[in-house]
Amino acid sequence: MKKKYDNFKFEFVKKCQLCNSKKIQAVHSFGFHPTVNDFLITNDLHSKINFFPLKLLFCKECELVQLNVIINSKTIFPENYAYRSGTTRILKENFNKLKNEIELKKLLKLNNFIIDIGSNDGTLLSNFKGKYKILGIEPTAVSKIANSKGIKTINKQFNYDQAKNIKKKYGKANLITATNVFAHIEDIHQVMKSIKLILKKDGVFISESHYLFDLISTLQYDTVYHEHLRYYSLRSLKKLFSLYKMEIFDITKIPTHGGSIRVYSSLKGKYKISKNVIKLLKKEQTGRKFEKKLLNFSRNISISKLKINSLIYKYKLMGKKIVGISSPSRSSTLINYLGLDHNIIDYICEINGSLKIGKNIPGTNIPVVDENILFKDQPDIAIVFSWHIYKELVKKIKKKGFKGKFMIPLPNPKII
Ligand SMILES: [Zn+2]
Repeated sequence: MKKKYDNFKFEFVKKCQLCNSKKIQAVHSFGFHPTVNDFLITNDLHSKINFFPLKLLFCKECELVQLNVIINSKTIFPENYAYRSGTTRILKENFNKLKNEIELKKLLKLNNFIIDIGSNDGTLLSNFKGKYKILGIEPTAVSKIANSKGIKTINKQFNYDQAKNIKKKYGKANLITATNVFAHIEDIHQVMKSIKLILKKDGVFISESHYLFDLISTLQYDTVYHEHLRYYSLRSLKKLFSLYKMEIFDITKIPTHGGSIRVYSSLKGKYKISKNVIKLLKKEQTGRKFEKKLLNFSRNISISKLKINSLIYKYKLMGKKIVGISSPSRSSTLINYLGLDHNIIDYICEINGSLKIGKNIPGTNIPVVDENILFKDQPDIAIVFSWHIYKELVKKIKKKGFKGKFMIPLPNPKII
């Protein structure tokens, strides 16, 4: 720890977040990292930045892969948190597909009640507006955007007290959704209890989470950061639900965040279990095979660091100017893990309007600038930090007039 301030509290994970076992082992240590949305104003010489340990662990008992520290959620998700789901095209499309899938499966009737946990700017719920009763819960200020669009959103953290309030005021839901928040909320058991409290007996709970086996196979270690407390396999989710007499009855693999799973669950015995669930469970390695996979993963992460840095080193020695394109949350993990600074990466561009412009990449002096600078400056190489969607990005940037080369850092660094 470099320094700990009173309002920046964190706890070490001493027992498994899922099954409470103390048989937890390290998978990989990334050293000390700032939280990924801690963007401080460029040229502010006296800014305080906090570094926390970042390590992946796994539980020998239930095999859940998880983080070694839990940082106070107010620190990680400040009121001014800059992430908006409505601005990401892939997410928009995903929510539309989710709605179609739900209707195809005939899980809803007209005027049924839907609750979205971590509803962000209301993008998901906007697909259901009109035909169904909808309610969002969102702890950050983005909830205002949802409310202004006519999507009723409670600006609160989702917890058991909040669930009790919802049940009293609005009744139980036919459908509850939680997309990409299931890994973020500190106390997963409180979430499960709260969901059960507001879900009807024949209700359906749909969660979307980054899928551990995709994360490993495509080497997305840059998605390991303090916001993501747990990295789910299907069987770890199955174990979690079974503790609450719930079961998974269907799954869909989806492309969001570079490989996620959409999981349909309900109280036990309410819906027929689809073959998709059985097939994927069979495919997931367990025991010794799983441990070996994790060892390999850790080795590949270390090798990846060497590969990316040696490529950057090669071009730097040739006198090339290197910058970055886009600063998603994951870029903070990669940049800090690689140990890059402003002498190596001059700046990182964001599209006009981004709240990150004029600030530094967390933990570094690399400034985030308006992307127009890229087209004027025409540096030799631009590292694409949103590499999981690089095809789309490269096309766009080229079309706008960038003539240099692109470096795609992961899973295997390449220049295109
Ligand atoms: Zn466990």
